[in-house]
This record gives sequence, C-alpha cells and structure tokens, in this order.
Amino acid sequence: MSTPPTPASQLISAARSAAMAGDHAEAESLYRQVLAQTPENIEAWMALATLLNTPAQKREALERVLAIAPEHVEAAAALARLEHSSPAPVPTPTSTPAPVSTLYCANHPNRETLLRCNKCNKPICMDCAVQTPVGYRCKDCVRAQQDKFYTATPTNQLAGTVGAAVSGLLLGIAALLLARLMGFSFFGILIAIFAGPALGGALARLIWKFSGRKRARSFNLIATGITVIIAAPIAIFLSGSLLMPLVVIGLAASTLYARLR
Ligand SMILES: [Zn+2]
Ligand SMILES: [Zn+2]
Repeated sequence: MSTPPTPASQLISAARSAAMAGDHAEAESLYRQVLAQTPENIEAWMALATLLNTPAQKREALERVLAIAPEHVEAAAALARLEHSSPAPVPTPTSTPAPVSTLYCANHPNRETLLRCNKCNKPICMDCAVQTPVGYRCKDCVRAQQDKFYTATPTNQLAGTVGAAVSGLLLGIAALLLARLMGFSFFGILIAIFAGPALGGALARLIWKFSGRKRARSFNLIATGITVIIAAPIAIFLSGSLLMPLVVIGLAASTLYARLR
C-alpha cells in the first residue's frame, strides 16, 4: 500500500510556513518535492530563488521561471538585480560563496525577498509589490503617486455628486426615449450600442465640469453608482420595458466608469 502523493498546494503551504519559521532547509526540500510533481510550478521556482543561498543557484531558479514564462516580470526584475549586484563571476579558490546580503520585506520581517521598491528602495516581498509601468513599487509609493492626482476638495466632491445626480436624470430620460421610440428590436439595439457609450462620454464630461475638473479616490465608482440608481428606475418604470433601458444604461455606465477613472 503506497500512500498517494501530497498535493502540491499542501506542500507549498507547508513550505511557506517552514520558510517563515526560518527553516530554509525544510522549505527547500518541500519546494523540491513540489517541483518533482509539477516541474513547471513558477511559484515554487520563485520561492527557491529567494531561499537558495548562492547567486548562481538563485540565477538558475530565476532562469527556469523565465524559460517557463518569458513574460514573468518579477523573475526578470530579480534576475536583473542579481546580475547588477554580482557583476562578473570571479572564480574564488575558497569554498565559501560570496555573501549575498539578505533582504527582508519591510512589511513582513520574516519574508526574505530579492525585490526593492524602485522609488524608495525599501525591500518588499511579492505580496507587497505593485507592478507599475516604471517597475516594482511598494504600496505606499503607489498611493503617494496617486494622491498627487486626487486634488478634489469636499466642495468639489459634493458638486461632483450633484453632477452625477443630474447625469442620472438625463441618462434616465435618454434611455426612456430610446426605449419608447425604438423598443427592443434589432434596430433599437443597434442604436443603443452607439448611443450608450456616446451618452456615457457626454455625462462624464458633465460630471467632470461639475466637480471642478478635480479627481477624488473612488469617485468614478460613486458617480457611476448614483447615475445608474437614478437613471434605471426612471427608464424602466416609465417605459414599461426592461431590456432596452438596461442595455443603454449599462453601456453608458461602463463608459462613464472608465472615463472618470
Ligand atoms: Zn516605495
Ligand atoms: Zn511583504
């Protein structure tokens, strides 16, 4: 009677616990078991890249990740850092490998990592890293960067909310008219497909003006929500139909949400 192999997911969580407890040998052996079962397990290779001691071993694990997934940015970034920190492999007669200074995530002191925020340079683990077009950043730096764009005062936000209510009223009337005039027909849907996004764009400009052209965090969600909550009952109850108003309002709302982002 042979016992069935432990599922990879269980091995990985056991390996993670071992790594967090500082038992790197146990963690490594568990990740190797995972790779024996699923040789293309990227998570296991990335974890090994962090756990292994020498730059050559780390590089090998990262290269395996990139062979499996060439677009894997974390691996590419870590490999680039590794190349950067240890230039030419100088042959050393001694058996002691060049010490790689161990980094620990600034938010998770038990997690070793190879990544640093490319803005503030603090070490971050993969859970704490945010991939941005300019590289990996910590959540604080991403938030600080966004905050520069969120300049709406409470007055701006109140005015924007009023704008969203007006926009809901206008969208409700527009969807009502379209439903009454066209009905749920092929031609009606065709018009809705063009009219919905156009309405959404126009309403986004309207709300944008109301709010003094200032952004606030999550305001696109709030403004779209208010618009839909006001528009839908007007169009649905006054037209007596459901599908046509929903198509028009749905298309307008998705455009509005994307535009106000
Ligand atoms: Zn940072
Ligand atoms: Zn972390």
